[in-house]
Amino acid sequence: LAAIAINNAFLFEMTTTDMMTKLRMKHYFYTILLERMEQAATEGHPLSVIMMDIDFFKKFNDSYGHSCGDAVLKQVARIIQANVRAIDLAARYGGEEFCVLLPGTERGRAHAIAERIRQSVASASTVYEGRSLAVTISLGVAQYDPSRDLSGKSLIDRADRALYYSKQSGRDRVSVAD
Ligand code: GH3
Ligand code: MG
Ligand code: MG
Repeated sequence: LAAIAINNAFLFEMTTTDMMTKLRMKHYFYTILLERMEQAATEGHPLSVIMMDIDFFKKFNDSYGHSCGDAVLKQVARIIQANVRAIDLAARYGGEEFCVLLPGTERGRAHAIAERIRQSVASASTVYEGRSLAVTISLGVAQYDPSRDLSGKSLIDRADRALYYSKQSGRDRVSVAD
């Protein structure tokens, strides 16, 4: 029975974790997001999400190859994970998009955390095959609003629009949804 339990735990990790970045995958993030939204609504606690997208990521692939892009992805994932708490959930949302779910966190505090992640990425020295790469990310923050966010998608979309605004206004910055 112990062996089965260990095997199940292993399978669970395998099916919910992105092996390259060691962050959770989107489907797992969404499951936890819905749980946390319900808790936040019933208990009256704040909840925020940060959406992130690497700036001009394609140029790393195009200039130095896919393994360079992969190295950038791993580096950004490591920095995100190092800047969040154990109760926060960091995930790889898509190709070069990441998100963090922050229970018990209001938008102002989430903004500060997003800004810390942005600065850490921008100031980290990312070296690939002896070349120093200038990596930046754009971020969008949204706080869960039970009266407006009737679905997980609504909250994610608001964070995504804030992220899009960061892209439009010059990249390497954080925007907060109102
Ligand atoms: P922007 O600042 O507007 O976000 O520009 P961008 O170049 O980052 O955006 P775009 O969406 O054009 O490029 C994303 C690229 O990410 C396209 C795709 O080939 C690449 N990509 C997605 N997943 C992976 C992956 O796992 N590894 C590598 N190396 N590249 C990936
Ligand atoms: Mg993208
Ligand atoms: Mg991008």
